[in-house]
Amino acid sequence: MSMSHKFSSKKAAIESELPSFEIAFEKDPEYQDALAKDREEQSGQHPHSVKTCYVDSYFEEIAVHLGDLKNEESEAEIVLGKKMEPPHVGAVVVFDGVAYCAKRSAFKHGDHAEHSVLDTMLGDADLREKGAVLYGTLEPCTKQSRSKWTTSCTELIIARGIRKVFVGSLDNNPLVEGQGIGRLLQEGVEVHFFKPGFANRCRHQNDSFRAQFSNGLAKEIKAVGAFLRNRLDWPSVSFYCRRRSDAKAKWLEAGAEDLGSDALRRFYAEMIETGHLSSDGKTCELSDDFSLCFLKDPSEFVSCYEVDFLRPVDAKSPGNDPTERIGASIIRLMASDGSDSLLASLALKVAGRVPDSDLKTFVENVLTERCRLPKKMDPFKEAAFNALVHHAYRSGSPIVFLIKGDGIAVSNCAARLSKEDALTLENEGWPSLPANPRLMQLLVNCGLVQRSGRGLPSIREVASISVKGYQGWSVVQAAFPKETK
Ligand SMILES: [Zn+2]
Repeated sequence: MSMSHKFSSKKAAIESELPSFEIAFEKDPEYQDALAKDREEQSGQHPHSVKTCYVDSYFEEIAVHLGDLKNEESEAEIVLGKKMEPPHVGAVVVFDGVAYCAKRSAFKHGDHAEHSVLDTMLGDADLREKGAVLYGTLEPCTKQSRSKWTTSCTELIIARGIRKVFVGSLDNNPLVEGQGIGRLLQEGVEVHFFKPGFANRCRHQNDSFRAQFSNGLAKEIKAVGAFLRNRLDWPSVSFYCRRRSDAKAKWLEAGAEDLGSDALRRFYAEMIETGHLSSDGKTCELSDDFSLCFLKDPSEFVSCYEVDFLRPVDAKSPGNDPTERIGASIIRLMASDGSDSLLASLALKVAGRVPDSDLKTFVENVLTERCRLPKKMDPFKEAAFNALVHHAYRSGSPIVFLIKGDGIAVSNCAARLSKEDALTLENEGWPSLPANPRLMQLLVNCGLVQRSGRGLPSIREVASISVKGYQGWSVVQAAFPKETK
């Protein structure tokens, strides 16, 4: 490993054109000069003038030099599912009198510059204690932009205890832009930008890298965004996005404005990356999974099994068609076990064209296979059907099967229950009168349930039932623990 290149002057280091080096800068006359100039300015007569800070410029220039060095031609990397030219990046970490400097791929093919310095060169150092400072030409990458096996530079910077970061330019990869810096600020890291001259150089180093996003994905996002604007089911999208960053995120009703344009753009980028969405600028293609999970009316794109029952309507509101039907988008599945899957294929099973067999397959095979609940199949099936027939579809909330590492929870929304009724439900189970009698009839016709309400006690043997009030509705949840066998 070429870590032994040490210099005591910036000039000599830069002339070497090495992909990585160390500078013991305190002996460098150029550094001494910068230090003296800074001291002079500080004691000067203009306390309100913008500080030039020559010392920072000293390190910024080294970082820019490293970014200027050529990337190897073979370095293309997969960004957002496409093979792309990688960015030019230089990083300098100033620690204990030495500047540790590296470009991209300095030691290992494809390694980010920040990684090279923080891991390869400074792997054992306690950076927190001595107040190390990082100068990077490009905004550090984010969790969302890396595979789950790689630590992003932003997280690495935070983990290593660096409290001050200088950034040369923003990364316009939609999975990074502004979010790397945002994450640092969130963690209380001081973030500064390079001086305008150096910042410009950083931006121009990556002109062609940047163009790849602005020509490609940005256009695609624009196209799918326009296409989906009135089709998305906002609570689902919002839940998914929040679940991405917070495993404890709870379902709540949300509109487009609750999500924010940044999160929405990231959502589109991720869906494009995973192949759920694509567009040639004129037409858009949606995967079935995407349609079922995130559209208000998936039947526009996927042949759905239409649940035949009536939507309860507000009698006072004129113009309501009491025979309005609801499509099969009533079930949405979200994984909270950290897997990327939307589990939408499960929804597809239930939305298949042959209701009885598909519904049966859905509950008996797919869910249980996923959740390993084979032994106590009947109570689970009972709870799933109960959720279906007792759900308050008027609430606009979907029925949610929350699949977790330690089990599965089935939640549905009910009209606001009194405290007493809620207690009865928790202790005894659902009332035998279904809120959706026609759906009940349908399930009975398919031979999936018996009308009597038998099996309720069996649910309570295995699952815990809870009722919580939420925005004028009661959310009923049956939580089943995972079975080990
Ligand atoms: Zn990175």
